[in-house]
Amino acid sequence: MQLQDILYSQGFGTRRVCAGLVQQGHVAIYVDGDAAEPVVCRDATQDFEEHGLRLNVQGVDWPYQDKAYILLHKPAGTECSQKPSAYPSIYTLLPSPLRQRPSKSNVQGVQAVGRLDQDTTGMLILTDDGPFIHRLNSPKRHVPKVYDVTAKHEVTPEQIKRLLDGVLLHDENQNVRAAACEQTGSHTFRLTLTEGKYHQVKRMVAAAGNRVEGLHRSRIGTMDLPSDLAAGKWRWLTIDELSRLT
Ligand code: URA
Repeated sequence: MQLQDILYSQGFGTRRVCAGLVQQGHVAIYVDGDAAEPVVCRDATQDFEEHGLRLNVQGVDWPYQDKAYILLHKPAGTECSQKPSAYPSIYTLLPSPLRQRPSKSNVQGVQAVGRLDQDTTGMLILTDDGPFIHRLNSPKRHVPKVYDVTAKHEVTPEQIKRLLDGVLLHDENQNVRAAACEQTGSHTFRLTLTEGKYHQVKRMVAAAGNRVEGLHRSRIGTMDLPSDLAAGKWRWLTIDELSRLT
């Protein structure tokens, strides 16, 4: 693929902007894959095998990714919407190429797989792979999502039992139950859900007779939020991690 098209596919702007970046010497290539120093390429039409290609654009390393799979540690006080109403959008935490990647659908860039409330922290996956979003969200697949809950009132064994047995939420005609629930402290417990209804944890906890004061998603599938990824930071998912998500 021509270098300008590779850059375009990764979200670095229109083909014209991408050609300009190359011609101005802002794009370098790690020629032998693991070469220590990238080599500047000024020919926007030069062909490269894109798979496995490592670029350096304006001083920042960028691995070519056919589809982008991102792990973000969502901080409190951010909204999972492209058009937030009251708090900054999580998308402002990502570099612009991830937000601008062209896509066949009419939505540009990576999208969050399910949403977390503005005050919820923790693990969020973003991608531009539509079928992957569908697989991770599908209630039929029962992908477990684990939440660490801090409650306003002391947690009782009866509340844990109600969450496990099932509670009836407003506007629902069937009980919803936690796949797992264990108390971790006087005011804390860990809850596993395999579906993702609107404000589900908060509504379930309220229906069980308590109130959520703090909510943190710590695990999706069999993958934990890595302890070295600070709130507000993102990184690419590895192939092994991807396989553990669904
Ligand atoms: N359930 C909630 O109530 N809020 C979240 O952010 C996620 C799950």
